[in-house]
Amino acid sequence: MANTDLENPILMIDLPQQYLQQQTEIDQAIAQVLQKGNFINGQQVTQFEQQLANHLQINHVIGCANGTDALQLALMTLGIGYGDEVIIPAFAYVSVAEVVVLLGATPVFVDIENDYFFIDVKKVKKAITPKTKAIIAVHLFGQTGNLAGLIDLAVENDLFLIEDNAQALGASLSINGETKYLGNWGHLGCTSFFPTKNLGCFGDGGALFTSIPDFENKTRMIASHGQLVKYQHDLVGINSRLDTLQAAILQVRLKYLNAQKEAKEAIYQQYCEGLKKVHFIILPKQNPNCQPAWHQFTIQVKNQNRDKLKAYLAKKEIPTMVYYHIPLPAQLAYKLYNPKQVNFAIAQQTANSVLSLPIHSGLTHKQVNYIIASIKDFENE
Ligand SMILES: *Cc1c(COP(=O)(O)O)cnc(C)c1O
Repeated sequence: MANTDLENPILMIDLPQQYLQQQTEIDQAIAQVLQKGNFINGQQVTQFEQQLANHLQINHVIGCANGTDALQLALMTLGIGYGDEVIIPAFAYVSVAEVVVLLGATPVFVDIENDYFFIDVKKVKKAITPKTKAIIAVHLFGQTGNLAGLIDLAVENDLFLIEDNAQALGASLSINGETKYLGNWGHLGCTSFFPTKNLGCFGDGGALFTSIPDFENKTRMIASHGQLVKYQHDLVGINSRLDTLQAAILQVRLKYLNAQKEAKEAIYQQYCEGLKKVHFIILPKQNPNCQPAWHQFTIQVKNQNRDKLKAYLAKKEIPTMVYYHIPLPAQLAYKLYNPKQVNFAIAQQTANSVLSLPIHSGLTHKQVNYIIASIKDFENE
C-alpha cells in the first residue's frame, strides 16, 4: 500500500486543520481583541487564567510568555540562585537546564527510568546534598512516572518540587485515592502553549500553576518587572506576559482540550493494538495511576535500528520525530555540569532509540493503519 492511496498526506501535527475546525470562534475572538486594541493585559488574559484554573481544579493560574519563562519564574519565585543545586532529569527538553544555569544555580543531572522516561527517584535520593533546593519533575510525552515517590522525597528533605507540565497538560494522576491534574502536585507547575502542545496558541505562551497564594503574588510580581504598583519595583523581575491575542485564542482552544485528548487516546489504543506483536519496538507503556493526555506516541526501536526505521517510514511519506537525540548532560552547553562524567546510561539508550509517531486529532483510522502496516513491513526489509 502506498501513501497515495490515502486522501491526505500524513502530518506530524496538523495545525491548519485544528484552526479550520474552530475557525468561526477563533476569528471572532481575534477580531474582538483587534477592535479593542487591548493587546497587553486585556481582560481575556484574566478570563483565560480563571477558565484554565477551573479546568485544572487549581486555585491560581498565572499566564506568562512561554514555557521556559514559566520554569524561570518558578525558580525565581522560590528564590533559587547562586550556590543552590537543582535536581533535573538527564533526559528532557533543554529548558530545565537552561533556566537553572541562567539563574546562577547548579543543575544536578539524574538519570531517568525505563518505563515512563521519568527521573529515577532512587537516583534522585542519592543526588540530594545540603545545597539541594529543588527538584524539577518533567512529565514527558503526556503522562508521568513515579511522581508520588518524588513528592515523598521532596517532603522528607524539605525541598521544593516544580513540575514541568509542558507536555502533559490535561493528564491527571492518582496518589492514595486522590486524583489531581499534573502540574498541581508540586509547589509550582509550569506549562507551555507552544502551538504544537496539548493546548497550543498561535505563537508563544505559557503559564504557571500554584495553590499557594504567596507564590501566586510573587510570581505575578516577578513576571511584571518585580512591581505590584506601576513603576515601583520591589523585586528584580522580568517581562513575561501572555498576550491578549493568545489568551483569546486559548479561551477557544481550551473548550476542545478534552475532545482532543480523547481523539489522541483512541489513536494511542489503535497503535498499541496494531503494534503489540512487533518485537523490534517497545511501545509506550501507560502508567496505571495516570490518566494520560498524550502529547507524543513515542516508541523505542531496538538494536540500533531507530534511524533506519525513521528513514524507511520517511520513504513511505510517514513523518516521525526524535525527541530527543542527545541527553542534556551530553550537550556541549551543559557538559561542564557533569564534572564527574557520570554515565547516564538510560538517558543515552533512550536518546538512541526513541521515535515519535504522528498522533493528533486530524489523523484518520486509515492513516494510522497505514503507519502500523508500514512499521510491520520494515521487518521484512
Ligand atoms: C515545550 C517545552 C518546554 C518549553 O516551552 P516553550 O514555550 O517552548 O518555552 C519546556 N519543557 C518541556 C518538556 C517542553 O516540551
